[in-house]
Amino acid sequence: MKAIGVERGENTPRLIEKPVPEPGEGEALMRTLRVGIDGTDFEVIEGNHGGFPEGDDHQVLGHEAVGVVEDANGTDFEEGQLVVPTVRRPPAGSNEYFERGEPDMAPPGTYLERGIDGAHGFMAEFFTSPAEYLVPIPDEFAETGILVEPMSNTVKALEHAFASRSMFDWSPETALVLGNGPLGLLTLAMLDETVDRSYCLGRRDRPDPTIDVIDELGATYVDSRETPVSEIAEVHEPVDLVYEATGYAKHAYETVDALAPNGVGVLLGIPDDWSFEIDGGRLHREIVLENKALLGSVNSHLRHFESAKESLGRLPDWFTDDIITDVFSPAEVEDALAGGDDRIKTVVEFDTL
Ligand code: NDP
Ligand code: ZN
Repeated sequence: MKAIGVERGENTPRLIEKPVPEPGEGEALMRTLRVGIDGTDFEVIEGNHGGFPEGDDHQVLGHEAVGVVEDANGTDFEEGQLVVPTVRRPPAGSNEYFERGEPDMAPPGTYLERGIDGAHGFMAEFFTSPAEYLVPIPDEFAETGILVEPMSNTVKALEHAFASRSMFDWSPETALVLGNGPLGLLTLAMLDETVDRSYCLGRRDRPDPTIDVIDELGATYVDSRETPVSEIAEVHEPVDLVYEATGYAKHAYETVDALAPNGVGVLLGIPDDWSFEIDGGRLHREIVLENKALLGSVNSHLRHFESAKESLGRLPDWFTDDIITDVFSPAEVEDALAGGDDRIKTVVEFDTL
């Protein structure tokens, strides 16, 4: 079968030929329909994040997939059922996080990630997975279901943010999403049903497809080159909720300035090391005297995927049409992984329903 992967010692993804995987006990075999590409894939290609499966000379990419069950292999699935696989898998044996059904809370070193860290991904004509890591989705999500994985990360992050404010009467009216990449835009759309007013930060000139989406959602576009995050409270208004999806490390601290008293900021970006000066005393004081919270969130698990599936069903069609900007065949691997400002979510399509 055809697969898209990187060979050890290389930074260029290529089309590779591999045998169709055999499902083990408790596993199903899926025929892949679509796989989404995101920033993490580029980090894996560059060798800056994750790692190769032990003992293998290549890694198959892809962690945002939709497949159709080809061989249920004695699991509870029916052949023909559409599924989205989760990303984390236990290393040899298992551990308490997986046993509790909370692998998203497992610390680094206690999990593998399909397509990212120590395990092959889903960017291949077929993939196998234990049935317990497959989320069934309806046929109508054959094309959009690749959004379930990124949306599940937001479901988890917002769940933690809300939980941190659950001890008092808190109903957020305003939200600020930092970042106009796919994760930021998906989150902005998901927050539409929760808050009255929302803002989204980018650093691009109009016309731009991401700013068009922000406008169409009725949110306010904030250009960080004109209004830095630390000035948003003054120029616009202090916000109840900040969702950081830029990976720009200063935003983690400037979030404190953007928050209204009792607000919460949730950080998802994954920056490289970067030293800079901040007024730590002032920020510390503000967090304490204004009851603010800052928290980090990574990955997600089954419950979040289930909830993301419900959220996807509530997103307007124009939005999913505008977000999935580019669809490539596996043979177009080079173009698919070229990136570019005119693209929001790029997809590799192996097959259709
Ligand atoms: P992208 O890189 O596609 O999006 C980041 C966006 O932020 C880009 O549009 C970029 O603008 C914008 N941006 C970066 N710096 C600034 C700045 N200083 N001012 C204004 N805008 C800025 O990534 P994704 O949307 O896929 O993901 C967002 C982040 O979340 C990444 O860091 C990713 O690694 C991380 N991530 C974390 C997960 C988790 O579970 N914690 C899950 C998935 C992703 P431009 O394009 O114009 O440069
Ligand atoms: Zn992703």
